[in-house]
Amino acid sequence: SWLSLSNPAGVPVEICAGPDVPVETAAVDELLAVLDTATALRTLADATPGLAREPRIDRVVCTPDLHKGAGIPIGTVVHTTGALLPAAVGNDINCGMRVEATRLTVDQVRPRLDAVERALRHLFFEGGRRIALTPAQREGLLREGLPGLGTKSARNEGIWAHAVPEDKEIPAHAAGWPVDSAEDFRDWITSGGAGGGDGVSYDSVIGSVGGGNHFAELQYVSAVHDGATAYAWGLAPGQVVTMVHSGSLTLGHQAGATGRDLARAAWPKTLPLPANGIVPLLLDHPRKHRYLTAFANAANFAIGNRYFLSLMMRAGLAAATGAEPGARPVYESPHNLLWEGGDGTVVHRKGATPAGGPDEARLYGEPVIVPGSMGAASYLLRGLGSTRSLGSACHGAGRRVPRGAAARGSDAELDAFLREFRVVTPLNHRDPTIAGRRDIIEAWRRDLKQEAPWAYKDVAPVVESLRTAGVAEPVVELRPLLTVKG
Ligand code: 5GP
Ligand code: MN
Ligand code: MN
Repeated sequence: SWLSLSNPAGVPVEICAGPDVPVETAAVDELLAVLDTATALRTLADATPGLAREPRIDRVVCTPDLHKGAGIPIGTVVHTTGALLPAAVGNDINCGMRVEATRLTVDQVRPRLDAVERALRHLFFEGGRRIALTPAQREGLLREGLPGLGTKSARNEGIWAHAVPEDKEIPAHAAGWPVDSAEDFRDWITSGGAGGGDGVSYDSVIGSVGGGNHFAELQYVSAVHDGATAYAWGLAPGQVVTMVHSGSLTLGHQAGATGRDLARAAWPKTLPLPANGIVPLLLDHPRKHRYLTAFANAANFAIGNRYFLSLMMRAGLAAATGAEPGARPVYESPHNLLWEGGDGTVVHRKGATPAGGPDEARLYGEPVIVPGSMGAASYLLRGLGSTRSLGSACHGAGRRVPRGAAARGSDAELDAFLREFRVVTPLNHRDPTIAGRRDIIEAWRRDLKQEAPWAYKDVAPVVESLRTAGVAEPVVELRPLLTVKG
């Protein structure tokens, strides 16, 4: 269940794997290139006299969904001292998952899925969400996270009507990462992406799922593996839950670019830039504050976006069933983020999720959200706080087939899948007015093939490998009723 990878840099590398979980060779090659950063850090230390602490990579952990990314594989945790690596966070800062439990059962919802689909299509893709925000609320969100939004909009309408006071009773990290400025994002603060003025305006950015692997899904508890924990988390067989996967959209890309630019600018002019493209930033560097501020702004935006997407799921269920679904958050977890320890250490997770063990606040351990794929099962697990895994688990089943290759899959398989499973996308393939548009339909089919269940690994062996490795234990299995894909 654990493989230790020896390497010339001498960095401890642990790969969590299972007998039925394929590890992509291309990802391992990419990982070996990442380890050159250990040398880059030594070079940087030699060129920077008077450092308080020697910058180094202490340890690398790979989760069972390890697959090739851009520069650093997805499913990688990097523990450093004295330096941070903007490239080890992923392009979509604070991409993450949010799960909410409703009071509805699958038997109540399944007969109304046509109505749910119509309501969600309207909310997600036909302008139905109407999220009214003031510039002060947008700035508040970027600086403080959810508390900065206040409770309600200036106009209590649209999906705001589904917010409840208990939404604020969530763990601190799920509420936000407080910082003192949001100046890098003045444009969005004033306009909300809509080019509007200073007044209240409907936001055109927030409430977007984002493309590809991002989703908002309606699921139900199909099996309980750990009754005590499921009960403590408010989950029972047949119960309907919502799962949202999204990140920080354009704001995260901007903050990520800022970080990589700052790291490049801070790199000594006398040294060649690292060949692997990963440029570290020393923790003592004065530019660090600017990066971490933009970084936290993007992270806060992502938390807000997942919250609004969850409100949209509540609104869709309410519209289709005629009653509030009574949803409350089970957990919200980031999978592209860095955490600075007070002692000069940094944990970077790129496509990996925290899996802390039981403590006073969380008797059963930290909830770990492991989605499978569109049309397949997903899991909630309880973290065991494994030190070997740097307290981290995988954030999904992970790709089996690289994106481009998946697009070449069979048409018959896709048709069979679409007949049996409900996917809501910006394009309504049942709409007769697009029936003649072969080009549009073909592009849409190519995108869906990359997201089909056969493009991803089986989630059950992935979950089993987390269990046998002592990283996390399954609590419930979730099956999908409907998936909204951006
Ligand atoms: P990421 O895109 O953040 O690297 O990975 C997200 C994970 O979510 C993937 O590894 C995959 O296992 C899972 N996933 C992708 N699309 C869907 C979907 O539509 N529904 C569910 N339940 N899981 C998905
Ligand atoms: Mn993402
Ligand atoms: Mn993601």
